[in-house]
Amino acid sequence: MTGIYIHVPFCERKCPYCAFYSGKVSAAGVCAYMEALKRNIISFPDAVKADTLYFGGGTPALLGTDNIAEIIALCRERFTLDDAEITLETNPNSTDREMLERLRTAGVNRLSIGVQSLNDTELSFLGRLHNARQAEDALRLASEADFENISADLMIGIKGQTPDSLRDSVARLSSLGAVHISAYMISVEPGTPFDRDEVRDKLMDENDIAELYISLMESCKDFGLEQYEISNFASADLVSRHNMKYWQGDDYLGFGPSAHSFYKGVRYYVPKDLTLFISSDRQPEIVSDPEPDRAEEYIMLGLRLSKGISLEKAASLGVPAEKLRYIETRAELCKKNGLCTFDNGIIALTPRGMLVSNSIITSFLA
Ligand code: SF4
Repeated sequence: MTGIYIHVPFCERKCPYCAFYSGKVSAAGVCAYMEALKRNIISFPDAVKADTLYFGGGTPALLGTDNIAEIIALCRERFTLDDAEITLETNPNSTDREMLERLRTAGVNRLSIGVQSLNDTELSFLGRLHNARQAEDALRLASEADFENISADLMIGIKGQTPDSLRDSVARLSSLGAVHISAYMISVEPGTPFDRDEVRDKLMDENDIAELYISLMESCKDFGLEQYEISNFASADLVSRHNMKYWQGDDYLGFGPSAHSFYKGVRYYVPKDLTLFISSDRQPEIVSDPEPDRAEEYIMLGLRLSKGISLEKAASLGVPAEKLRYIETRAELCKKNGLCTFDNGIIALTPRGMLVSNSIITSFLA
């Protein structure tokens, strides 16, 4: 089944490390965006069956609960959305009890909360608008509003973080009801305010990050959150159904500026231009890949997942026998070095392998 992604391009203020497409929220901007978004959903030509709807951004909660409820209702009308996972990204400072209860009533059943850290010094370094207490309150309120599927984002790689401090964060998140953690290694994106040497000096070097990452995997496991993807950990059965579509090569439709789609075998995206999105009858879409190589994508994306890839499936997608033998040789070598397991034709990266996943994937595809 298909996934539906809605990109909401508004934030209260830009975080200095962020390269996602978003700008300052305004009532007029939200109003014009809503009109354009609804136009696009209504005019989508196919009756798609979807089982996930994901509000990302940006800060989707800034649309207001009435608008979010209206979009969900419209998607239910326009597409089949039976038994769907409906996720909304939110920030601790834009979360309150009434809003959470309204979202639950509107059909949102999964929250992804931008906690980032439970340490006030780190939150201030990250330029976030919330503190640790607000983050904890947001999780508590979400549980009280009957959200059973709560994810928390964590940033790792800030100097001063230790395996023990991260373990403590995981313990606190878990005790407050988080059943899913997405952990991102902080990176300096070109052109952001973080793109300065003074900031780089406050970030850990690669070796320390590697140690931290491995310790995070162990801590998550100890608290019942199994790693299922390089950056994602979840209690049993509560993996992000929507994000799995990206890694498994399933179809997804994106609405809103900067949203990406993979539909009917074509990859395309909407330009990062809110004015253009608002002023166009139909959102402009630029094809990024008219004919993606499914076999290559299966290897590239599948190796991000803990379950790994199957050589049999790779063969069925068209990987030639000679290339399969090459991958087998590389996998045997990685296995000897503790970077992957390779049994019964299934190759899966180990925690150490996930740390160097890019170079392993590149070597498999060479
Ligand atoms: S709130 Fe999220 S999307 Fe908005 S600027 Fe900060 S990190 Fe980026």
